[in-house]
Amino acid sequence: MISHMINSSFLLGDGFELLEEGHLVVEKGRIKEVNDGFITRGTDAKDLLCIPALINAHTHIGDSFAKEAALGLPAGEAMGQNGLKWSLYQKAKKDEILRAMRDSVQYMLNSGISCFADFREGGVNGADLLRKATEGIPIKPIVLGRDDGIENFDGLGLNPWQLGQIPSQRNKPVAVHAGESKGEVAEVLSRNPDIIVHFTLATREDIATAARKKVSVVLCPRANALLGVGIPPVRELMERGINVALGTDNVMLNSPSLWREMEFISKLSYLKKGIMPADVLRMATSNAAKAFGLNSGTIKKGKEADLIFLDRNAPNLRENKNLLAAIVHRTEPENVRKVMVSGEFVVEK
Ligand SMILES: [Zn+2]
Repeated sequence: MISHMINSSFLLGDGFELLEEGHLVVEKGRIKEVNDGFITRGTDAKDLLCIPALINAHTHIGDSFAKEAALGLPAGEAMGQNGLKWSLYQKAKKDEILRAMRDSVQYMLNSGISCFADFREGGVNGADLLRKATEGIPIKPIVLGRDDGIENFDGLGLNPWQLGQIPSQRNKPVAVHAGESKGEVAEVLSRNPDIIVHFTLATREDIATAARKKVSVVLCPRANALLGVGIPPVRELMERGINVALGTDNVMLNSPSLWREMEFISKLSYLKKGIMPADVLRMATSNAAKAFGLNSGTIKKGKEADLIFLDRNAPNLRENKNLLAAIVHRTEPENVRKVMVSGEFVVEK
């Protein structure tokens, strides 16, 4: 059953090829057709630009109640085994934590994020709290738990000192933080995770090993900067063919905005050898989908209709000479005029 026909402009496929004046047909939550020309009876989004919805590949929304609490602290003191984060949790009330988590979820959806992968502390109870925080909000959470079996979660999200929790057999993703301290990446790679988050303080051998083992990497450059860790080797990872996605990490440190993260990684990359705007946009869409085995992140027949519609004629975006660079560097949440998740419009401004 066709649920939507929409006239708009589109960025198609993994290469973000621009289709001006086209139409998209959605059936059973998926893209049935995307083609040239406006059609009669199509919903009017002619002045907007449709791109894939964003996927935030690494968050900790649980600490949304303590925004900016770790300013100036190094990674270990903020988030480490005995870090500030854990003592803040002990003092916080459950409804305070939940309310702040819901704020972050709502903010993400409103800014064009249809799916986020959250490292959830606190075992089964922690996972329940995250599900409660997303109740009634049409966003897709990927709950990466710990401390209880992988069967309770969508996958595992571990620290380097929790590698013993990796099951010998699994059919769900295992993601591990590594590379905020030297030597971590090699140790974690030896345990064959599916995803490594950070990968910042990594050696050339680590990069070669990750490429050989087909490990996906999720970069969190704003968190790395704020905690004084360093600059992730984004160009080197890409040159080795590693699948690179992007996450906003702790809400304590960062807003969960992938627009800000995209601008930051793009501009940081020019300190060495720059990466292309299309590479950056893929990190926040199709590469993240690949890391978690999702059928989304690309505008293509058969993909899930998780889409956003940008006001490309807004004063902060129009009159540009490079559309993809303008999107990656300048888009603000208010430029996201419509959000579609699984074929339904869930945000319209
Ligand atoms: Zn993290």
